[in-house]
Amino acid sequence: MLPTKAYAALNEKTPLAPFEFNRREVGDKDILIEILYCGVCHSDIHQARGEWGNSIFPMVPGHEIVGKVAKVGSKVTNYKVGDIAGIGCFVDSCRTCPSCSQGEEQYCQGHVSFTYNGTEQDQKTPTHGGYSSQIVVDEKYALKVSPKLDLQAVAPLLCAGITTYSPLRHWKVGPNSKIAILGLGGLGHMGVKFGKAFGAHVTVISTSKSKEADAKRLGADDFLLSTDADAVQKAAERFDLILDTVSAEHDLNSVLSMIKLDGTLVLVGVPPQAPAVHPFSLIPRRRSIAGSMIGGIRETQEMLDFCAEKGIVSDIELIPMSEINNAYVRMIKNDVRYRFVIDMQTL
Ligand code: NAP
Ligand code: ZN
Ligand code: ZN
Repeated sequence: MLPTKAYAALNEKTPLAPFEFNRREVGDKDILIEILYCGVCHSDIHQARGEWGNSIFPMVPGHEIVGKVAKVGSKVTNYKVGDIAGIGCFVDSCRTCPSCSQGEEQYCQGHVSFTYNGTEQDQKTPTHGGYSSQIVVDEKYALKVSPKLDLQAVAPLLCAGITTYSPLRHWKVGPNSKIAILGLGGLGHMGVKFGKAFGAHVTVISTSKSKEADAKRLGADDFLLSTDADAVQKAAERFDLILDTVSAEHDLNSVLSMIKLDGTLVLVGVPPQAPAVHPFSLIPRRRSIAGSMIGGIRETQEMLDFCAEKGIVSDIELIPMSEINNAYVRMIKNDVRYRFVIDMQTL
């Protein structure tokens, strides 16, 4: 067993606190990653605070992991000691179902082992995430990270990056697309960067007037304040696709009004309460509502390679581990520009 330092939520009420646990020994096909940086996703907050009703405690959150390979098993072929590697939102899956066979492991019909707040393939052993000093993973579920990029700013690509890249690719967003990104947070700001990189016309729809200049700096062509009823009305039927990254309750009917005939609202944000959608928000313009979850290993690697080629990384604020509880408070107040990343050397 490998003793590992971490920060954990011990229950849904108290702040995260120092914690120690054991990682498994490095198996034949495993690599040991010494974690350098871990991004802070709003899903960490939802789960640490029990907002999705599926929390397992103690919980070591964190699924935007970048680190250095410190040890490799005897049958590992793709990594060597010293390589930079990443881990995203899952660390294993059944490997045999149709989704796994197609490289869409996140939609595994068997058991997917989420990086934390999940269980290993035995469906018993809890998994623990990246707010920790090290992690052991089968090399198949690790990602190659180009050492050319700024590693602290790469960490958020492992969740915020792939979660926005994948649906924009799936719905074939390109130079003829007019899209909007709803919510300019960790996911949202990556959605803007990918939307622009794919050649689309991108509007940011936000509740925060103060983010308008940043939206433009990030590449957005337009900015719409969602609390301005007139502006929302003028934007009726404007977009082919809206990517909804909002983490809190909001009205989907007014969002849908801005979508064109046959257009799609793609939900990636997961507010704790279920939204109410009126059929008349969909029927008269044959609109669709869809959802999308992170991305598979193949597509996550494709996204990381795309980012290395185009020089795309996240806009981050680096924090020491001891600042995590304050970072959660700030994220809930929309006070993050645009992703907190923990410097794991400070653990
Ligand atoms: P985040 O950085 O906190 O950003 C969320 C944004 O939502 C905020 O910046 C804010 O943008 C907007 N917002 C917050 N409260 C709002 C409210 N009451 N009404 C309207 N807008 C509000 O969060 P994140 O890390 O990007 O995560 C966003 C959501 O995606 C979370 O629910 C998370 O769990 C989920 N998620 C899903 C997946 C997936 O696979 N589907 C993966 C990762 C995360 P403005 O200031 O611009 O309004
Ligand atoms: Zn996440
Ligand atoms: Zn599977």
